[in-house]
Amino acid sequence: MLGLMQSQPLLISNLITFAERHHGDAQIVSRRVEGDVHRYTYRDAAQRSRQVARALDGLGLAFGDRVATLAWNGYRHFELYFGVSGSGRVLHTINPRLHPDQIAWIANHAQDEVLCFDLTFLPIVQAICGKANIRHYIALCDADKLPHDSGIAGLRSYEEWVGACDDRYDWPTLDENTASSMCYTSGTTGNPKAALYSHRSTLLHAYGAALPDAMGLSARDAVLPVVPMFHVNAWGIPYSAALTGAKLVFPGPGLDGKSVYEMLEAEQVTYAAGVPTVWQMLLTHMRPAGLRFSSLKRTVIGGSACPPAMISAFKDDYGVEVLHAWGMTEMSPLGTVCTLKNKHLALSEAEQMKIRLKQGRAVFGVDMKIVGDDGVELPWDGKTFGNLLVRGPWVLGQYFKAEGGDPLQGGWFPTGDVATIDADGYMQITDRSKDVIKSGGEWISSIDIENLAVAHPAVAMAACIGMPHPKWDERPIVLVVKKPGADVTREELLAFYQGKIAKWQIPDDVVFVDSIALGATGKILKTRLREQLKGYRLPGV
Ligand code: AMP
Repeated sequence: MLGLMQSQPLLISNLITFAERHHGDAQIVSRRVEGDVHRYTYRDAAQRSRQVARALDGLGLAFGDRVATLAWNGYRHFELYFGVSGSGRVLHTINPRLHPDQIAWIANHAQDEVLCFDLTFLPIVQAICGKANIRHYIALCDADKLPHDSGIAGLRSYEEWVGACDDRYDWPTLDENTASSMCYTSGTTGNPKAALYSHRSTLLHAYGAALPDAMGLSARDAVLPVVPMFHVNAWGIPYSAALTGAKLVFPGPGLDGKSVYEMLEAEQVTYAAGVPTVWQMLLTHMRPAGLRFSSLKRTVIGGSACPPAMISAFKDDYGVEVLHAWGMTEMSPLGTVCTLKNKHLALSEAEQMKIRLKQGRAVFGVDMKIVGDDGVELPWDGKTFGNLLVRGPWVLGQYFKAEGGDPLQGGWFPTGDVATIDADGYMQITDRSKDVIKSGGEWISSIDIENLAVAHPAVAMAACIGMPHPKWDERPIVLVVKKPGADVTREELLAFYQGKIAKWQIPDDVVFVDSIALGATGKILKTRLREQLKGYRLPGV
C-alpha cells in the first residue's frame, strides 16, 4: 500500500522560491571585486535568478547543459546557483586556484557551454579561451566595467546579459534526480574527477546540514561562508541559508584576516565557516591589535584537521564555539560535525575538549564504518584505526562519465581517510590513507604530530611526513614554519613531544622551512613536500 501524501520533487528552485516568499527581506551582503559592498535581499536574488534562467534560455541552452563559474563568494554567484540549476542546467563551479591548463582540461571534460567569471580571473580566462571549447563568456560585472581589449571573442557583461531579461519565469518541474551541479576533486594524483550532484541530493544535504547538531543554521543567524562557493558549493551554505532564511554575508575576494574581520563586525555575523588556514590568518590579525568579536558565536571549521590550539583559542580567548566538521567533495560535502551529547554536558572542560577535537558524529543521511585492508569491519572503540567508508543519499555513487570505474566497495564509498570511531559514534580522522606513517608495523597519525607542533607557541604551521627507514619502514619528521619573531630549536621542539605521545611516535627530526605548500583547496600538499625533501636523510641513517 502506498502512502497518500503529495508527491513533489525536491528541487533547488524550491529553495529560492521559499526564501523569497518567507524571508523576502532577509539580507544578502557581498564585498565585490570592485571593492565596494553590495546589499540586497532574498527577494531581489530570487528575481534575478529568474532573469538568469531566461538569459540561459536566450542562449539556446538545453536541459543538462553545463554553465561554469570562476567566481568568488558573492551575490551574482548566488543567483547563478539558483538560475542555472533551477532552470535544469548544471552549474559547474571551477576552482580558480588550479593551473590554467587543468582548468581548460576540466572545462572540456565537463563540456562547459558558458563560463561566467569575476574580473579577477580575466588572466585565467584569457589563458584558457584558446584551449577550452566554451561558446559563451560572461564577465560578472556592470556593462561599463567590461574590458574591451580582452581578446575573448563575444565577451559580455553579466549585468547587460541578465538585465535585459524579464523576471517572469516559471521554474520547470524537473525529476528530482536531475543533475544540478558538479565539482571536480582536487586530483593530486591523475586527472581530476567530477562529483555530479542532483536536486534531490542537494536538498537532502541542505536539510541535513541545517540541523541543530550539524551546522545549526537559523533565521536569526548572519552567516559568513569564507569557504569558497567554488569548493563543494561552500559546504552547501548557500542552499541551507535559503532554506532557513539566514542573512548571508559574502566576503568576495577579501579573504585576508583584516577583510574578514571587518566584514564579521560590520555585518554582525553570528556564524562563519572556513578551513583552518583562513582562521589562522584571522587570529593572527586580531591578536596583536587586541581585537574582539562583538557578534560571532560559532564557527564551523573543516577541510583539514582543526588544530586543538585553534579550538581553544576561539573558545577561551574569544568565547566562540568551534564546530569541527569533516566531509569531502564526493559527499556534497558534509559527513560529520562535532557537537556534544547531553551526557557530555556534565564532563569537565578537559574531557569535553577531548571530544571536540574529533571530527564528530554522522549527520542523519550519512552512514559510516571503518574496515581493515581485508574489508572486515573494525570495532567502534575509539582506538582501532581503519579505512573509513560511507554511504547515503548525498554520497557519490559514480564519478561523471564513469571515470575511474566503479568506486564503491559493496555499496560503500571508500573515503581514502583513515579513522577511529568511538562507542558514541564520534569519528576521528587519523590521516589520509596515503599520508599515514607506517613505522614498524604500527601506524602513526601525521595529524597528531602536526597538532602537537602547532600547540607550541613558536610554531605557525607544521606538516608531518614519513621518510623511508631501513629498519622501521618509515619514520615521521615534521616540517615547521616559525611564527614571525619567535624561536624554537629542533631539540626544544622534540622535547615538547615528550610525555604527550608514545616515545616511538615522536618524530625523528624537525626541518625548519619558510613556508609549506598548500593545494588549491587549502590542504597541505604532501606530495610537493616529499619532492622538496628528495635527497633528505633521516638522522643516523
Ligand atoms: P575535499 O574533497 O577537497 O573537500 O577533501 C576531502 C578530504 O579533506 C577528506 O577526505 C579529508 O581527508 C580532508 N578533511 C576534510 N575535513 C577534515 C577534517 N575536519 N579533518 C581532517 N581532514 C579533513
